[in-house]
Formats: sequence, structure tokens, C-alpha cells
Amino acid sequence: EKTPVTLLGLGAMGTALARSWLAAGHPLTVWNRTPSRARALAAEGARTVESAAAAVAANTLVVVCLLDDASVEDTLTGTDLTGKDLVNLTTGTPSQARARAAWAAERGARYLAGGIMAVPPMIGVPGAGGFVLHSGARDLFDQCRDTLAVPAGAVHVGENPGHAALHDVALLSAMYGMFAGAAHAFALIRREDIDPTAFAPLLADWLTAMAGAVHGTAEQLRDGDYTKGVTSTLAMQVAGTPTFLGTAEEQGVSPELLAPFFALMRRRLDEGGGEEDLTGVIDLLVSRPE
Ligand code: NDP
Repeated sequence: EKTPVTLLGLGAMGTALARSWLAAGHPLTVWNRTPSRARALAAEGARTVESAAAAVAANTLVVVCLLDDASVEDTLTGTDLTGKDLVNLTTGTPSQARARAAWAAERGARYLAGGIMAVPPMIGVPGAGGFVLHSGARDLFDQCRDTLAVPAGAVHVGENPGHAALHDVALLSAMYGMFAGAAHAFALIRREDIDPTAFAPLLADWLTAMAGAVHGTAEQLRDGDYTKGVTSTLAMQVAGTPTFLGTAEEQGVSPELLAPFFALMRRRLDEGGGEEDLTGVIDLLVSRPE
């Protein structure tokens, strides 16, 4: 017997989640503010109901995937959450997640806050690389793990309900750093007789090869020793920056994406971090407690 699921919210992501649970044989009750989106799923085997309250009443496990935190409050106000297992997969900030967790607890629900690290086409596709971060009630996660893992791999990152959102934003922020680097790289070759589709596989391979460096950074942070296992010292890397800035200038490319990071590297070097690699830069970003 597969766990029955209620799902509120049938946007692009909610619809993908719904299809994955239907395909895996979970009885599914759905509701959406605009009913037409639920009708398509009814034809595929979902049960549709008239109101959010009726959808919540239908099953113990209630998953929410709406636009933002305000739409979650709009939708759940007036529903009876007593004894429910509420899993909120709506993107928000860590403080919104903590406030919503307290709000759910006051109404008698167990609560998991989630962050979906996938786009809709990756949902329900094993091996697509997506995953869903969860934080909050560990007992609820353990009990519903198999059901929660149907759309994409489910990972619990701590009891603090804000931590899924924090992990989500941290991972996406790193992604934007990667996209910024790739944008600069493509800009460098833009005016040359270089086929970007021939360049892209080299770029992807290089980014993949370098991604593992985060493990070394993590160990240095954990141990408080920023010189541990250093292969490329900060002094050496700062000495190399004129090559990067000079090449950008030769190619007519603005250094505006690269320059702020180089400035941080220079500051850390000036403060005596020359024997480290890049880990000390992290401390320059974190403001000291008052
Ligand atoms: P969509 O814009 O496609 O859908 C938004 C959903 O929210 C719709 O079901 C909409 O209902 C509903 N909604 C909006 N406002 C209200 C309200 N006030 N009351 C009730 N329902 C409301 O968004 P997605 O499905 O793409 O995203 C849903 C969540 O998933 C977001 O938090 C998003 O950040 C997250 N996510 C999305 C990803 C993506 O690539 N799409 C990737 C990772 C996370 P209606 O149909 O009536 O307008």
C-alpha cells in the first residue's frame, strides 16, 4: 500500500510532483486555486476536491508547492491542520521557514520545510541529478522518506526548519558564481574564430574537475587550518591575476565579474594569508558579530 498524498499547488513544479506520485502508484488528492489545472490531472487518476480545506482533510500527508510563503498562508488559513504531516516545498527564506514551522506547530501539525533542487523536467526521473532538501521534523522525514523520495532524492539537513532554505540558497548562490565564471569565459572567446559549442565541453569538463575542490575547503574550515593540503597558494594565485585581467583587456572584455573576487584575494594576501589558498576569503565575507 502506497502512502496517500495530498498536494496543494499545481503550477509547473506542483504538476510535475503530482505526476511522479501518480506514476509511482500513490493515491493522490490535489487542489489548485485555478481549478482547470487540477482537471488535467484528474484524467490521469488524481482525486480533485473543491477546496484546500477538503484536500487537507483527505490525507495525513499534506504537501504544499505554491508560489511563495504568502500564498502558503493564504491557502492553509481556514484548513484544519491538527494531526497533519505538513511538507512545505515552497521556496522561501530561512526566517520564513522558521516562522511557518512555528505557525504549523501552533496548529497541531508536524512540519518539514523543503527546498527543491531540480527543475520540473528532472522530477520523477531517476538519475536526473535533482534532489529535495528537507529540514525540521526528523521523525516525519524518516516515516515518509520513501514517499518524499519519489519526485527526486530526499535529503534531511537538520532539525532547524530554516536549514533547507539556507542550503537551497547557498547551493544556488554557488551556481550563480559558476554561471558568472562561464559568462566571463564565453565573453573571452566571443570575438574569436572559436566555436562556442566546441569550447563548452572543455568548460564543462574543467568545472567538473574543479568542483571537488570544495571538499578541501570544507576540511580547512572544519579544522581551522587554511594551509592544510594547499597546492596553489594565495600568493601564487594573486601573482597570476594580471594575466587574467590583461587577457580580458586584450579581448575587449569587462573585468567586472572577476575583479571583485580578485580584490578579496588581494586583501587576504595583504593581511598575511599568502600561504593559504582561497579559504581565507570566506572570512572576509562574513561580518563579525557585534
Ligand atoms: P508556478 O508559478 O508555475 O505556480 C505557482 C502556483 O502557486 C500555482 O499553483 C498558483 O495557483 C499558486 N498560487 C500563487 N499564488 C497563490 C495564492 N495567493 N493562493 C493560492 N495559490 C497561489 O510556480 P512553480 O510551480 O514553478 O513553483 C512552485 C514552487 O516551487 C515555488 O516556490 C518555486 O520557487 C519552487 N521551485 C520551482 C522550480 C521551477 O523550476 N519551476 C525549481 C525549484 C523550486 P494558480 O494556478 O491559481 O495561479
